[in-house]
Amino acid sequence: MIKLKGKSVFNDVCIGKIHFYRRARSVIKRYHVSDTEAEVKRFHDAQAEGLRELQELHEKAVKSVGEADAAIFEVHQMMMEDQDYTESVENIIRTQEINAEYAIGTTADNFSSMFLAMDDEYMRGRAADVKDISDRLVRILSGAGRDNELEDDRYIIAADDLAPSETVQLDKSKVMGFILQQGSASSHTAILARSMGIPAVIGLGGDLTEEADGKTAIVDGASGEVIIDPDEETLDKYRKIKKGYDERKALLAQLKGRETVTLDGQKIKIFANIGSPADVAKVMENDAEGIGLFRSEFLYLQSEDFPGEDTQFAAYRQVAENMAGKKVIIRTLDIGADKQCAYFNLEHEENPALGYRAIRICLTRPEIFKTQLRALYRAAMYGNISIMFPMIISVSEVRKIKQICEEVKASLKADGIPYKDDVELGIMIETPAAALIADDLAQEVDFFSVGTNDLTQYTLAIDRVNRKLDPFLDTHHPAVLKLIKMAADSAHKYGKWIGICGELGADPELTRTFLKMGIDELSVSPSLVLKLRDQVIRTDMREEL
Ligand code: PEP
Ligand code: MG
Repeated sequence: MIKLKGKSVFNDVCIGKIHFYRRARSVIKRYHVSDTEAEVKRFHDAQAEGLRELQELHEKAVKSVGEADAAIFEVHQMMMEDQDYTESVENIIRTQEINAEYAIGTTADNFSSMFLAMDDEYMRGRAADVKDISDRLVRILSGAGRDNELEDDRYIIAADDLAPSETVQLDKSKVMGFILQQGSASSHTAILARSMGIPAVIGLGGDLTEEADGKTAIVDGASGEVIIDPDEETLDKYRKIKKGYDERKALLAQLKGRETVTLDGQKIKIFANIGSPADVAKVMENDAEGIGLFRSEFLYLQSEDFPGEDTQFAAYRQVAENMAGKKVIIRTLDIGADKQCAYFNLEHEENPALGYRAIRICLTRPEIFKTQLRALYRAAMYGNISIMFPMIISVSEVRKIKQICEEVKASLKADGIPYKDDVELGIMIETPAAALIADDLAQEVDFFSVGTNDLTQYTLAIDRVNRKLDPFLDTHHPAVLKLIKMAADSAHKYGKWIGICGELGADPELTRTFLKMGIDELSVSPSLVLKLRDQVIRTDMREEL
């Protein structure tokens, strides 16, 4: 029995088998081969296996996401057996007498640089694909197998760290918990764990090794303890603790259908945050009053290429229809920083969190932005959709956005496509700049939603994904609370409403503070909605604390 200690992300307990997440090795070793023909055959065998895998993936994807989005796997098949690509790998093996993995890596680098140098945006996008098929071949050659495709059981996923793009691609129905060597509480992986309502412990450090793969473990999301190979006595203890959690969940379930109002009658709406249409089930199950943040970039992260207008329209429409008239706030894509998406081909940056991200990408690559806005205005016909824009720092950005929205509506009109004209438009207050000029911004938009994750990172100069800074992080820092109050006062001064959709909104120690500021809505992980309602209905604002 081994006990590890990390930081808790979601308070629940699970007991199950560990599956260690593996990714293709990024460093490929170069070694000499004397029998080059045998090496070429190794490459051809891997190619055949790769094509088989892609064929299978294509068939699965046709069933789950439809023909149009599944087509990327056909493109990958074509690229994998492309004559130029194949000849390049064979030539490098034969002339340099080196291993297939290295020849594939070199070919991938050459081809992707060639694609990146092209003028055509579509062709530039192929650079990521050639890397992708090459990684697949290298993984097959390394004999790693298709490790991250989980069998039918549910697992505790263990990893050094998980990027948001990796987390969203996991089959969530098979994940019962996360344990990570690294990670920080406001990273998107932690946010996903919270929204899935599963126990997660991060920051376990190097004591969590691949030796744990396949072993039974207990994840205690309250204490931050992970127990590998527990003895019977410990298992028994935790089965009882788990039962306690289940009973508490059953008690909270009784709050479904109850109004969220304090003992002295102050109302506040409790909405939920989602990352994909599939999450709506959890929103309903937990009786959230609306969706306060749909992180639309997760649609992009889940996809192998830019999701087209029709694909996005179908996703937004599905969410709007399933929410049956309840408010659905969809945030336009917030790619960049820790949410990296290969086919955007973003250049490496020294400070990505302060870099080319979110609305900055949308305003400089309007073709991407307009595709999304067209899908949103069309989907708004089918429910109560509001659109929200991330990372705003100035009034001029908001004016530019509104002008693009008008252009999008005009193009839909010209195309004879039905759309909703008067969609509510809001912005995220997640930079200190936005909070400080909230008075001006409030006159431009219909609502604000405070992104406390980024607002905290930018106000305190604390990188939200850097675990080393945890000792410096005061999530209740008065500077952050002061900025939220400023934004709330400005919103109300101009008759606008304000919500909070960052993780701080769910902090029970701040519920009273937010009620006092007159915050109109709190949007939290679906799994925390009823807990927060419980907190509100026990609060009496007449009491002086
Ligand atoms: C935030 O910054 O608080 C927020 C809600 O957006 P994200 O976590 O996706 O950056
Ligand atoms: Mg943010």
